[in-house]
Amino acid sequence: MAANDAGNGVDAVSGGLILPFYLAGESGDTALIRGRLASVGLPATTILQRHQYPAAVASLQAEALAIAACLSTFMKFDGVFTLQAKGDAFVKTLFADVTSAGALRGYAAFDETASVPVADDVVAAMPASVPALLGSGYAAFTVDQGTENGRYQGIVELDGDTLSDAAMAWFANSEQVDSHIVASAAERDGTWTATALMLQRVASDGGAAGTAQQKEIHDDVWHTAKTLLQSVRRDELVDPDLGAEALVFRLFNSLRPHVAPAHPVADQCRCSPQKVETVLAQMAPQDLGDLVAESGKIEVTCEFCKIQRDFDPESLMGEGGTSTRH
Ligand SMILES: [Zn+2]
Repeated sequence: MAANDAGNGVDAVSGGLILPFYLAGESGDTALIRGRLASVGLPATTILQRHQYPAAVASLQAEALAIAACLSTFMKFDGVFTLQAKGDAFVKTLFADVTSAGALRGYAAFDETASVPVADDVVAAMPASVPALLGSGYAAFTVDQGTENGRYQGIVELDGDTLSDAAMAWFANSEQVDSHIVASAAERDGTWTATALMLQRVASDGGAAGTAQQKEIHDDVWHTAKTLLQSVRRDELVDPDLGAEALVFRLFNSLRPHVAPAHPVADQCRCSPQKVETVLAQMAPQDLGDLVAESGKIEVTCEFCKIQRDFDPESLMGEGGTSTRH
């Protein structure tokens, strides 16, 4: 059985993947540009099936899942990478996170009393509009390794047209390396395709030692690669019949792409009965009492995977020795 460096925890059968590749240009085999293509249509499909989002929100969510997956593999970390956006328009919260092992999840909260601001035919034609759906607000990108010093976050204002613009703004702030990302998602017959494709210039190790000629070659390759990436058509990005490798070679063939083994990405929540019970057990008895449903149980639904779990309030309160009886 082949090992992979994405860790063990996700089931590759569920279909998502992140394909690492690099572009060498005419230099030979030296990586001048690092690339990642995240294709998460199948996990996005099962995630979105559990939520009844309007098409515009579903499309935004699918893009967020693809972008989070794509960005996560540009960093070395052992934990969770999160993309979260807060808006003041139709969509209030957009959330996507992915573990270093490839477990992907997400949810969106939107104003269910308002009419959807983007028509379905517009949704089908272009990447999700940040100004129309989220309005003003911010996007936060967080790496959390579960240790005291293992958490860092970058925040950017939502002042571009797309989520890709927000991701690029964050990368420009944090990495100081030329990067470019495009993303799109589309649904056909209930199945989503969701793709994010990113290039990042490899910091030239030449520095002072690099010759002017080498720098010129690097600049030239970056310019060409970025132009090719910007030229990718939306229908190519969301073509369910075009494999990840095929797309990379189609786009960047002139720059000698080299691909590495893909990382699997799966629809996989991280909630558990124990985690919910721990949270409930820390609540005051009165607050717990307010949560009791008509069934007499405390019903907790995970906002990511929509699994509902029922807890017996008596036993929860009893554990803390503060059981109240009527
Ligand atoms: Zn869950």
